[in-house]
Amino acid sequence: MHANESPWPPVTATNGAAAALNHYPPPQPPELLEALARAWGVTPTQILVGRGSDEGIDLLTRAFCTAGQDSVMVSTPTFGMYAVAARIQGASILDVPLLAARGFALDLPGIRRALDAGSKILWLCSPNNPTGNALAREDIEAVLAAASGRAVVVVDEAYVEFTGETPWTLAVARYPHLITLRTMSKAHGLAGARLGALIAHPDIIGLLRRIVPPYAVAGPTLEAALAALSPASLAVTAERIGQLVRERERLATALSRSTRVSRVFPSDANFLLVQFDDAGAALQKLRDAGVLVRDFRGQSGLGEVLRLTVGTPSQNGLMIRSLT
Ligand SMILES: *Cc1c(COP(=O)(O)O)cnc(C)c1O
Repeated sequence: MHANESPWPPVTATNGAAAALNHYPPPQPPELLEALARAWGVTPTQILVGRGSDEGIDLLTRAFCTAGQDSVMVSTPTFGMYAVAARIQGASILDVPLLAARGFALDLPGIRRALDAGSKILWLCSPNNPTGNALAREDIEAVLAAASGRAVVVVDEAYVEFTGETPWTLAVARYPHLITLRTMSKAHGLAGARLGALIAHPDIIGLLRRIVPPYAVAGPTLEAALAALSPASLAVTAERIGQLVRERERLATALSRSTRVSRVFPSDANFLLVQFDDAGAALQKLRDAGVLVRDFRGQSGLGEVLRLTVGTPSQNGLMIRSLT
């Protein structure tokens, strides 16, 4: 009788896990931390879980940036939440754009200048959203070397499951200033459950546990995540990842033959960035077929581009038919 909860299960749910909903969930559920640690090859003390990676992005910005004083570095075009969190915290944003002419690679001299200017967080996204490419391993190593003792380096690995490459998550044991972000929203199909994780040295995790809200993972989310991390679920997920990667290549090949398409950028993720002669007309064709894609026209100098998520074979077939 210590948490002022109701003594009864919810009125409409009297059995199964829903019947436990009158109790608060455990903060940082040990069972979940262990399952994630097993899946990712780290220890539970290196993990913080929260409401999606978005919460991790917000916590890091608040923990490492003093309002009105500090800055973060982003490399556009990239995920918008790093800048959103910085603006909310009152941190300034130094943009060191990716090098479009070099396949959206990192601009290492530019990142060194951002470090000299005092950036506290270097946000890297690999594979990057919306361009789709994984960043070169040696470039991330160079950033880690330059940032040592000066800033934290965050590698957002929301799409790493689609690459077949070794995740940077495994490298947190070697770099005390490396933080990686992982999510259950993409490969694991749990976007609606809101569960993301931040992986870092236990000292950083300890610091963030002092500012994370006490019940960051809701009971039904915990239940859904544990089910998704069972060996049987992980086997199905691995098959689905394989299928999405094959479908990505099929979609890329088909679209690159379309006269409407001027370029399909290489992707290591579950989406394709596609450049059109007239992206507005392509958007309309897709809309007419009942397909919604993300419009990136004009953002960060990208020009006539749309981002297409890879779906089921029939969804991809619909996109191909609409555009060819
Ligand atoms: C989708 C996505 C995420 C996941 O965010 P959640 O809050 O975990 O759903 C994180 N980073 C990038 C770059 C993404 O595209």
